Amino acid sequence: MESAPYLIAGAGLAGLSSGVTLADQAVVLETSDRPGGLVRTECFNGFWFDHVIHLLHVQEQASEDLLLGLPDHYLEPCPPTAWVETEEGTARFPLQLHLSSLNPDAIERCIQSMREAIASMGESSPSNFQEALEATFGKALCELFFFPYNQKMWRRPLSEITADPNLWTLHRPSLEEVIQGAIPGSATKPAYNSRAFYPRPPPNSPIRGMQVISAGLADRLPDLRLEHEVTGIHPREKCLTVRTGAGEKRIAWKKALISTLPLPRALELCDDVPESLSHAAKSMRHNLVVSLGLSIRGRRPSLGHWRYYADPSLPFTRLVFLHEFDPDLAPADGWPLLAEVPLPSEIAVSPAELREQVIEGVHRCGVLNGNCQIEAVNILVADPAYVCFTDESIAAAESALAFLRSHGIEPLGRYGRWQYSSMSQVIESGVALAEDLLARNRV
Ligand SMILES: Cc1cc2nc3c(=O)[nH]c(=O)nc-3n(C[C@H](O)[C@H](O)[C@H](O)COP(=O)(O)OP(=O)(O)OC[C@H]3O[C@@H](n4cnc5c(N)ncnc54)[C@H](O)[C@@H]3O)c2cc1C
Repeated sequence: MESAPYLIAGAGLAGLSSGVTLADQAVVLETSDRPGGLVRTECFNGFWFDHVIHLLHVQEQASEDLLLGLPDHYLEPCPPTAWVETEEGTARFPLQLHLSSLNPDAIERCIQSMREAIASMGESSPSNFQEALEATFGKALCELFFFPYNQKMWRRPLSEITADPNLWTLHRPSLEEVIQGAIPGSATKPAYNSRAFYPRPPPNSPIRGMQVISAGLADRLPDLRLEHEVTGIHPREKCLTVRTGAGEKRIAWKKALISTLPLPRALELCDDVPESLSHAAKSMRHNLVVSLGLSIRGRRPSLGHWRYYADPSLPFTRLVFLHEFDPDLAPADGWPLLAEVPLPSEIAVSPAELREQVIEGVHRCGVLNGNCQIEAVNILVADPAYVCFTDESIAAAESALAFLRSHGIEPLGRYGRWQYSSMSQVIESGVALAEDLLARNRV
């Protein structure tokens, strides 16, 4: 049987970054015909769309070294300008720091209830996501934006979602900051994510979008095997069953298997998983994201990089204006618009219906100039996209991670570890895991 010191299942950013660090000791197996996982970009008749909105926030030295060391990363600063649409007016993102453009009554209500929330802080700790939102922002801001937005985002009762894993993405302001942001003409405050980058290759580049980064990493892998689907994980024999165009075969690992497959899927494929763990894993639910890429002919709008929509009658949570990330993502007389629709994975939707709802919503929310024509709607699905955290699913994921690690399998990545992480976080953990494995296996 063929073997390698390390096998890596999946060539998303997590698999790619660990593979680059393990260099010629690793074989990377990817089911798709292209590397990158979520970080892929499609071109439809001159209009480019990332699979999901992707802006790179470099947080740690490890990812900065790896990415800026790529020969053609073309990364350029792209500090985002984002807006929040509410029924009381439009405000800069993050809303809690920019109340000044809302209707005066709404501003007063938001500040008053924020004051009440701060006064009662510490009386009891929030037991779920809904309570945590209200304790952080107050009732009025929640009713105006955070509740309807998150209800659309999760499409599950917010009271059934565990608070902690979702909170790192939220900017928790002080009352002073909120009041400051409510003063007319007050300066805009940067969001947590303003140190951001996006690739801008030359106009004739054969690849564009965030895929420039995953393709650059993939080029550095000595042994990447595409269209190799892992269909079985056999820890006792330290090998995988892999399906390729030429049939099934087994490949063995000598030191470790790194799995970036979604954690519930890795469990399904793995031998000897206890019945109780397989049963508990059923609680690990997720949402998928359907990104509808609209190829639009006509004058480009200046509406920022993206806008959030809380209105429950609109099917999308966000509209993303990709020409602001890189003007060459569309022909000069057009622009690419990405509409983000999160859905629970257990609900079946008709793509044709979704397409009609999104087109109607895009017209209704006024982002198209008079002369704009929607030329095509391209559908991209990210599944899984958002892990849904409940107390039960967090406990199941912890047991699953412990089980796999105890069998010589190292879970990695956003879905491999069943977590909420960014591109730079998965790159950093890929590099860190690979360095740790090299150090452990050296002694
Ligand atoms: C809607 C959305 C917006 C986001 N926006 C941002 C953003 O703006 N900035 C940011 O930093 N991050 C963002 N992220 C997060 C970022 O996309 C992820 O953190 C990152 O792409 C995860 O990489 P990964 O390698 O862990 O997983 P994946 O990209 O899912 O890679 C897993 C790989 O495994 C492969 N695979 C699966 N099953 C098998 C099998 N059986 N055999 C072989 N291969 C298999 C898959 O094909 C895939 O290539 C966003 C995520 C979403 C969903």
